[in-house]
Amino acid sequence: MNGEIVPWEQSRIHVSSDAVLRGASVFEGIRAYRAAGSDDLLIFRAGDHMKRLFGTSMRVLRLEISYTAERLVEAMAQLLRANDVHEDSHLRVVAYFDEVTAGNDLDGTTGAYILAYPRPRGARFESGVRCMVSRWRRPSENAMSPRVKASANYLNSRVATVDAQLKGFDFPILLNESGKVAEGPGQNLFIVRDGALVTPPRTAAILEGITRDTVLRLGAQLELPVEEREVDPTELYVAEEAFFVGTAAEVMPIVEVDHYALGGGRPGPVTRRMQAAYDDVVRGRVQAPKGWHVSVYARAPVA
Ligand code: PMP
Repeated sequence: MNGEIVPWEQSRIHVSSDAVLRGASVFEGIRAYRAAGSDDLLIFRAGDHMKRLFGTSMRVLRLEISYTAERLVEAMAQLLRANDVHEDSHLRVVAYFDEVTAGNDLDGTTGAYILAYPRPRGARFESGVRCMVSRWRRPSENAMSPRVKASANYLNSRVATVDAQLKGFDFPILLNESGKVAEGPGQNLFIVRDGALVTPPRTAAILEGITRDTVLRLGAQLELPVEEREVDPTELYVAEEAFFVGTAAEVMPIVEVDHYALGGGRPGPVTRRMQAAYDDVVRGRVQAPKGWHVSVYARAPVA
């Protein structure tokens, strides 16, 4: 936290901080995976997460911090080493506006912190999830762009998720202001139609997800046709398959939307192939593009 490793109970932000008062912070969710054939941990696409943090989220909000992207990546590895984490884990890197200065939002102080949790893969990776199309829309580009990963945007995710859960579903699917499919509350979305992978474009009021990008590339490698185009809500009902993608969600099958069972209510073959391809790349079983893995323990593969 702000340059030091701090015990959990001492990691405090003042109640007058703008981060607390107005949710004035931005963050990244990042995963570190146990490497295949070694006890190393690999932080996945850390550089791309830093690019989104600095180049989109902080840039749009004109938030500046005292640390470089490289320093934060090194700090992530340090934090995992300091806690001797060797299992799959989830990191959060947060940059925030601190004390509120009267009258001028540009003069306040800022800070940054990183959290790390062990986080094994969830059971829903296997079973899939049941979704509903939500009445809550993603914020519009003209209000607060969803491509900015701002903490306050997650109130929109929260209200939609709670509503879906009260109605007996696992997750909402949110539309944008034009009534086209946008994304999940913390995941991008793909459908399979006529064998092609289809996902809403970057201009559909979505977070420009790093997993979405990984899956688009893997789709091309698997020689699946891929389409980035507007998706109508009814396409969710007639798709052969659907899945969420995200750092936390990984590739999560969607087996039902508004009580329309997809693929007989079971994760489909394209989803399963994509899950396997994703696991291969995050654990370093296959060659990944340069910079996709940061080794925490810098040990050579055993096998
Ligand atoms: N959309 C939203 C709203 C999210 O919070 C996330 C998770 N960061 C995603 C999509 C997926 O993005 P990524 O693959 O970069 O984790």
